[in-house]
Amino acid sequence: MPAPSTRTALADSSRAPRLGGRLWLDFVNSDDEHRGRRVEHLTDFATWTHWLADAGVLDAERAAQLERRALEQPMGAQAALVDARRVRNALRTLAERGATQERARDGALAEINRVLGRSAGTRSVEAGPAGFARSFRAGGDVFGGLLLAIVESAAEALVAGEIARVKRCQGQGCARVYLDLTRNRSRRWCAMADCGNRAKAARHRSRRQSPPGTREPTPLRPRSRARSRRRGS
Ligand SMILES: [Zn+2]
Repeated sequence: MPAPSTRTALADSSRAPRLGGRLWLDFVNSDDEHRGRRVEHLTDFATWTHWLADAGVLDAERAAQLERRALEQPMGAQAALVDARRVRNALRTLAERGATQERARDGALAEINRVLGRSAGTRSVEAGPAGFARSFRAGGDVFGGLLLAIVESAAEALVAGEIARVKRCQGQGCARVYLDLTRNRSRRWCAMADCGNRAKAARHRSRRQSPPGTREPTPLRPRSRARSRRRGS
C-alpha cells in the first residue's frame, strides 16, 4: 500500500466544498485539503467551468459555450486555468495570513488588481427564470473575465474589513477556510458535524487513555474499574 500523502492532487468528481461563506473563500477551498488528503477540484478547464457554473458565476449555456471554445483554443484554455490557480494561491495566502501580515495582503492585492485591471467587457443585468442576475461579457480574450466575480468578492472582503474574520479550520489535516460570522468569533471548524465532531472524539479518546492522575476529575467512578486501569495505559 502506498504511504498516505497529504498532497495527492487527484481528479475528483465530488463537488467542491461550499462552506466558506463567500465566493472567494469557496474558490480557495476548491484546492481542498481535508482529513489529511488533498483534492484538486480544478483539474482541467472543464472542471473549472463546472465549478464556476456550480457557484452560480456562469449559467449553463455560457459554461457550455466556453467548453466548446476551449476545444478550439486548448492553449488559451490551459493558460486561463493556470492563471486561475495562481490567483487562488494568492487568495489562500490572503485568507490564511491576511489578517496579521501586511505582506500577505499586498501580494493578494497585486493579484486582485491585475485581474480587475484587465477586465474590459460589458456588464449588464439580465432577467432569467430565477430572477435577475448580473452578467459580464469579457471583451477580447474569450477566457478573460472568468475570475472577475471571484476577485471582486475578495476585494469586497478587504473593503468591508472582513479579513479579520477569515479563519482556517483547526481540524487536523484540514486547510479549509471560512468566514466566521459568529458574534464572539468563536467558530473553530469548517463544519461542526465534520472536523468539530472529530476533534471532540479525539479529546474524548485522549482523556480515556491518559493516566488516572492526569485526568480531569470525574464524578464517582466504580472502584473496580478505576483500579483495573494501569498507569500509562
Ligand atoms: Zn475542517
